[in-house]
Amino acid sequence: MSQSTSPTPRPSVLEIAAYVPGRSSGGTGVKQHKLSSNENPLGPSPAARAAFLDVANSLELYPDGGATLLREAIAAAYGLKPERIVCGNGSDELLSLIANAFLSPGDEAVFTEHAFLVYRIVTLAAGATPVVVAESDLTVDVDRILAAVTPKTRVVFLANPNNPTGSYTPVHEVRRLRESLPPGVLLVIDAAYAEYVRKNDYEAGIELVATREDTVMTRTFSKIHGLAGLRIGWAYAPAGVIDALHRIRGPFNVNAAAIAAGVAAIKDRAHQDRSVAHNETWLPRVTDAIRALGFGVPDSVGNFILIDFSTVPGADAAEADDFLCARGVVMRRVAAYGLPQMLRMTIGDQEANEASLAALAEYKDGLQGG
Ligand SMILES: *Cc1c(COP(=O)(O)O)cnc(C)c1O
Repeated sequence: MSQSTSPTPRPSVLEIAAYVPGRSSGGTGVKQHKLSSNENPLGPSPAARAAFLDVANSLELYPDGGATLLREAIAAAYGLKPERIVCGNGSDELLSLIANAFLSPGDEAVFTEHAFLVYRIVTLAAGATPVVVAESDLTVDVDRILAAVTPKTRVVFLANPNNPTGSYTPVHEVRRLRESLPPGVLLVIDAAYAEYVRKNDYEAGIELVATREDTVMTRTFSKIHGLAGLRIGWAYAPAGVIDALHRIRGPFNVNAAAIAAGVAAIKDRAHQDRSVAHNETWLPRVTDAIRALGFGVPDSVGNFILIDFSTVPGADAAEADDFLCARGVVMRRVAAYGLPQMLRMTIGDQEANEASLAALAEYKDGLQGG
């Protein structure tokens, strides 16, 4: 009998800190408001739910490996060519496929200090080296990204808007970044929150992708469409990138329920409009109310905000998180994003938002009293 030995993963794999999702639930005995994962408080479109249930009648069948109906529905909604779209098991999978297809050991991928954590994970998983660039005032600084580019740079990840900061990069700056990057560097624009942004100088990246060979935009059904549980993302990309992603993706990477619900969701414009309107009502209200308590809240264009506890004497983000959780308000710790003095709060339904404001006020009063 030979002794068994634990096989060794690629060294960079052991540098990865596994992604820790937002908590689902805080305490016991109180109603829970999950505001930790930027989910849609209105839920999915009723049409998407019905389409999902209908798939229960044919679960023995493999899905269409090309997700044709879903790509066609997305293409129709945005005026794109279906063959320039690839769908994934969440946009996280697409980011991982992009890294696997375009990064090798020795290559560098550039992203900013408070960028979405998945970029670091997929870069290291591909054996490549993350190059982390400072931000200015919680905002991407294009000049700093450009200064970090070396001959080894193969990919630049840009979350626009970024999670968890809520800031965005205006279209002229994205264009300047793209035009200043060396030829052959792939720019990945992760526009997970694009639908929520109400700024004249914002674009998700469709035009840039359409006119170039070296730029990809990723999108998700997890946020505005309220389908995070089904795992649906899509990328709009030039032909060469699409070809590479199809070669390495799983043959049935998007499941049948996801395809059916996704098609129904993207067609339901009214539900998307309702979701945006809800955010437009509550994002400024919640922001103003929390600022009025004395906590810093950076401007956000997404469906979430950062709350800065360092602006109130005696306040502490981790302590506040426990306090809020005990009252059923579950926010997201963002220490792993380099922001230990902050919590991220998703804009919830009216009840959740009011519960958050009440709990934050109570937390602050407790500080003054004590
Ligand atoms: C939520 C989020 C995604 C979406 O991930 P899915 O895998 O599609 O659920 C992608 N990028 C950012 C920045 C996000 O916050």
